Amino acid sequence: MALVATGVVAAACLDRPLTIEPVDLVIEGARILEVRSGEVLEGRTIVVDDGRIVSVTGEGAESPPAKRVVDARARLVTPGLVDVHHHTAFVLGDSVSEGGGFIARLSMEPDSIAAYRDRFAEAYLPYGVTTVRDAGSDEAHAPMLVAWMEPSPDAPDFHPVGGALGSEEEGRTPFPGHAVVRDSSDAVTKIRDYQEVGYRHIKLYWRLEEPEFAAALSEARRLGLNVTGHVDFQVFPFERALDLGLTSFEHAYTVGVGAMTREEFMAAWREQTPEWYGAEARGRFYLGVLEYFHLLGPENPRVLALIDRLAETGSTVVPTLHIFAQRLGLTWHTTPSVGAFDDTSWLSPEQREHAIEGYRILAGYVRRMHEAGVRLAIGTDWTDPGQAVLSEMLLLEDLGIPMMEVFRIATLDGARAIGVADEVGAVEPGLRAHLIVFDSDPLVDPRAILGGKTVIKDGAVAHQAP
Ligand SMILES: [Zn+2]
Repeated sequence: MALVATGVVAAACLDRPLTIEPVDLVIEGARILEVRSGEVLEGRTIVVDDGRIVSVTGEGAESPPAKRVVDARARLVTPGLVDVHHHTAFVLGDSVSEGGGFIARLSMEPDSIAAYRDRFAEAYLPYGVTTVRDAGSDEAHAPMLVAWMEPSPDAPDFHPVGGALGSEEEGRTPFPGHAVVRDSSDAVTKIRDYQEVGYRHIKLYWRLEEPEFAAALSEARRLGLNVTGHVDFQVFPFERALDLGLTSFEHAYTVGVGAMTREEFMAAWREQTPEWYGAEARGRFYLGVLEYFHLLGPENPRVLALIDRLAETGSTVVPTLHIFAQRLGLTWHTTPSVGAFDDTSWLSPEQREHAIEGYRILAGYVRRMHEAGVRLAIGTDWTDPGQAVLSEMLLLEDLGIPMMEVFRIATLDGARAIGVADEVGAVEPGLRAHLIVFDSDPLVDPRAILGGKTVIKDGAVAHQAP
């Protein structure tokens, strides 16, 4: 650790000349977006050493000698972004199944782990994303997942959950990123095994029946692990997950599903979707989900009651709006469809408009969550995740959420949701130096987040705009 030039050091200088080792990095003249207070601090100097922010000083303060200086005069500096819902298969998967779903067939040789990490870093760092939670990857990839947990300046921090846990179902092969538990004691064993391997995060999937869900959740909490749930399709009631103390929920659409009766749910999925889109819509995920929201309508009292309950319990919801918006041409970045389940190219203009109306109802509930005090976090759950993070931020801004708050959602609130806010998520002394210096100001024009930026990870410049 280098000494920082302060008055105290100078006063301690005795008869021999004091050689002050330069710090790693100084960022001068920054406009810091203080996500905690919602203020912009003008003309600040950020001193970084050994990967951490050492000090943030105001105008007139002298900068210590530094190995590298970034001139950020009048440029906005924000914390690095957090994606709380990643799947390695979406970035690294090298084939698509015949049914149209993703399958990851990765060879886990030691050198491929390093090569895959480069691809992972390339998918995120140029977009300013410095912290990622993997929300479920193939258990066969455990050597890679565990190796990536070691933080380094050349890739985002990586927080894996192992496999997303589901109950055993006869005759069904689980998705590659999922792990099956047979009963509640098996669920407890799985959580303990995961903790032993080094995982600090657990994901409970909606295919988990109540006894296993309750057992896994309570064991994970006992061990101090961070838990999130994707509670969906009414295998396990959403309200019951709240009763059991779960406070982190993946996908805003599940709040709508959670408020539906079984009959409504079946009607939307099986009948109403073909009614609007024709028989070929059957089983198409995006259209089916948006159809739920037509059925619920924009002011559904049960959805609003569930939102109140999420707010009262201090819960976080991860909206994942981008996965819908990109299929309907509502955002700046679209990944080509990977199979029948997400192909919307065949929609007529009227059908597309109908799907967009469903999206608007879903997105309206996300705005209601924000207004009610439900904490949001950015999760992508998709390929091109760096672009998807920026897309998700702009989609939240489209809902009328001020950019200042969108940044808090994308940084501090994401870090809180996954339990790492004591390390990252703000520009403050003591925290790891994960920073973005924007070439033009996203508080003036939100789309400036898509423009040039310098990205700093653990105190090192990881990406610089050409
Ligand atoms: Zn997912």
